Amino acid sequence: MARFSPLAAATIAVAVFILDTLTTFDIAIAVLYVVVVLLSLNFAKKIQLLAIGAGCMGLTLLSFLLSHGQELPADSIGRCFVSLAAIGITTFLAFRVKAAIGVLADSEQRYRSIFLATGVGILQMDFTGLKHAFDRFKSNDVQRIEDIERLDPGFARSALRLIKLTNANRTALNMFNAPDLGALEQLLPTLVSDDMEGKVWKLLASIWAGNQSYEAEAILKTSDGRQLIFLYNVAVPLDRPALDMVLISIMDVTARREAENELDVARSQLAHVARVATLGELTVSIAHELNQPLAAVVTNGGAGLRWLKRDVPDLTKVQSSMESMIADATRASDVIKHLRGLSVKASPNPMNVDLNEIIEETVTLLQREIDINQVTLRVDLAADLRKVIGDRVQLQQVVLNLLLNAIQAMAHVAEGRRELTVKSSEEESAIMFRVQDTGPGIPLEVRDNLFNPFFTTKPDGMGMGLSICRSILTAHGGSISASSEPGAGTTFEFTIPFNREVG
Ligand code: ADP
Repeated sequence: MARFSPLAAATIAVAVFILDTLTTFDIAIAVLYVVVVLLSLNFAKKIQLLAIGAGCMGLTLLSFLLSHGQELPADSIGRCFVSLAAIGITTFLAFRVKAAIGVLADSEQRYRSIFLATGVGILQMDFTGLKHAFDRFKSNDVQRIEDIERLDPGFARSALRLIKLTNANRTALNMFNAPDLGALEQLLPTLVSDDMEGKVWKLLASIWAGNQSYEAEAILKTSDGRQLIFLYNVAVPLDRPALDMVLISIMDVTARREAENELDVARSQLAHVARVATLGELTVSIAHELNQPLAAVVTNGGAGLRWLKRDVPDLTKVQSSMESMIADATRASDVIKHLRGLSVKASPNPMNVDLNEIIEETVTLLQREIDINQVTLRVDLAADLRKVIGDRVQLQQVVLNLLLNAIQAMAHVAEGRRELTVKSSEEESAIMFRVQDTGPGIPLEVRDNLFNPFFTTKPDGMGMGLSICRSILTAHGGSISASSEPGAGTTFEFTIPFNREVG
């Protein structure tokens, strides 16, 4: 159409000129030049449009002069003016439209360049089919997405088929090794494995709730067996309630996650080193702990033997000695079990853990340390504390570090004023552990560096304890904080959320 516009415009201009010059109708034929101006919109630039408008006005005047010669009837002059005004106004409006189209084209071009060249993969999707399916459910009085999950468990898969890919930028194509849009469209559904269904339901829940944005991570397996980790964001434009243009931006974070995993391994090795160092300090206490039950085994064994060696052996007494021996040996074995638990070098091993149990065990382990340092211990554990998902050994390491730090901090406090309070409680969405001492507190200049690796104020300190505590708690989705008033003791508090997803 645009190709023939110049020819059509020129033909109409000539036709109007001939008609206007040669005929003597009582109508303003020259008004038809507006068609020429409007047709020019298809091919002429802004300046050319003005020239064409001016040309049409010139032809109108020429026709007028040629057809009327010297005599100038008033009605003809009126018609000529009407034509000139119509052509002038149309040219002006066409000029404005052309300028607006230019701005729009520039913006479109800019958007296209961003879309195509940005380093983030962008998928443009049409969710209309999904929206219709949701609307059908809603009109059937389904209130919540969980109800769909119950009524139609296969819906997550079929929902994916209702979503259509309409465009994708180069980065997205490259990410998936797809040569073109068609190939990517075919590929996408095959990348979503069955074990991702839970994540699909979460995305559906967000769209069902009418959220404007949803962000999550997905692990996809490509056809050549590579495992890719993507961070994606689903953005629903506000002005598109029909969900016909949903933009999904995706970032390949595989390399970043791998680096983080390596860091985790390094951290767990470091934690192991620190744990073994702590164990070194504890060896003396533990040797003492072990010595007691072992000495009792020997004493009870000797007593049993004596009862046996009697002329008439007292078997009841022998039996009771042996029972005591078994109880003592079990005690010794428990101490060793704790010890082994602490020295196990393990990568995080998430399971349901009872923090109260960990506190009790750690306190038992530190009992001698507490006694020697004449610390008064107060333990206030919440009854029926909810379990959290976490690594038992790592969390024990945290509690151990905090208790040891507190005991050490009170070394120079007057006897009788060394108080250690340990408390566990349940908050709204997390469990909380607090350890409070009556030590010197933390000076301001120390406070900022407290959790930095290798920061220590102790002559033989390693400065890794609190840094490791924080890494462990962060890995558990929790956090740790310290508060203190110089001279009035220190409180360390950590929280770990329950209902945390693992992995
Ligand atoms: P380290 O014990 O090996 O020095 P930490 O990371 O455990 O390393 O602690 C770092 C520093 O934090 C300690 O050297 C000490 O100055 C300070 N600190 C830790 N706990 C306490 C506490 N309960 N009271 C006062 N200062 C503390």
